Amino acid sequence: MSAKCPMWYRKLYSKMKICRFRKDGEIGQGIVEGGEILVCDENLDKTLEVFRINETELLPPASPSKIVCVGRNYADHAKELGNDVPVEPLLFLKAPSALIGHNDAIVIPSQSGQVEHEGELAVVIGQTCKNISDDEEVLKYILGYTCLNDVTARDVQRNDVQFTRGKSFDTFCPIGPFIETELDVSDIRVTTRVNGEVKQNGRTSQMVFPVEFLIRYISKMMTLNKGDIIATGTPSGVSRLRSGDVCEIEIEGLGILSNPVE
Ligand code: MG
Repeated sequence: MSAKCPMWYRKLYSKMKICRFRKDGEIGQGIVEGGEILVCDENLDKTLEVFRINETELLPPASPSKIVCVGRNYADHAKELGNDVPVEPLLFLKAPSALIGHNDAIVIPSQSGQVEHEGELAVVIGQTCKNISDDEEVLKYILGYTCLNDVTARDVQRNDVQFTRGKSFDTFCPIGPFIETELDVSDIRVTTRVNGEVKQNGRTSQMVFPVEFLIRYISKMMTLNKGDIIATGTPSGVSRLRSGDVCEIEIEGLGILSNPVE
C-alpha cells in the first residue's frame, strides 16, 4: 500500500474505516485498508506511516466526552424486560471510563450476579452540533458507525432508580473494532453471539426512534462534541454473561466486535 495517497482524497471519494491503536507504547489513529493501518495526523489528512494491524493493539475507535444511550428503542426488548415502549426516547449516560476496545476483557464486578450483553449500533459524532433542525442535516455531523456492547448489571439496574451504576462499571462499554464512515444504517442486521450461539438477532429498521431522529432529539438538549457516542438501543434476546464466555456483536457492514469475559 502506497503511503502517498492523500487522505483528503479518500475522505471525499471513498468510504473509510477509521481506527485508533497502540504500538510501542504510542497511541495513534489511522485508516484501515486490508490488513494495514495507514497512520494519519489528527485530521486524517496525512499518512505518516504504515503498520500491519496485527502488529498493533486496537483501542476504542473514538474518545468521547460522553456516551449517550437510548433505552427500550426496540419494542421486543422493552417487552422482554416487562417495560412499555417509551413515548419519547429514554436517554441515559454511560461513563466514558467504561470504554474498552476489540478483544479487551469484560470484567464481571463483585457487586452483580447478573451481567448481560446488549448489542447495539453506535453512532460517532464528527463535529460539534447543537439544536439540529432537520433530519437531512444530521448526516453531516456523523463521523460514522461502529458496534457497541452496552454491558449491563441487570440486578443493579433494577435495584437503582438511576441506570448509572448498572451501566457504568469499568469495561462495560466495548466498542469497535473500526468506525465505518459511510453506511446506510436504516435496515441492517444486529447480531449478538455468546460462545458462537446467536442470542440477539434484530434489524435497525425495528428501532422505535430511528438514528436521525435520535441525534436531532439529543442535540436539542445537549451539545454533542466530536467523538461523542450515541448507543441506539438493543434488540430482544439479552442474556447473562459468565466468566470464560466470549461475546461477539456483529453488525452488517461494520464487522465483529469480540470480547472475552472475566
Ligand atoms: Mg442498551
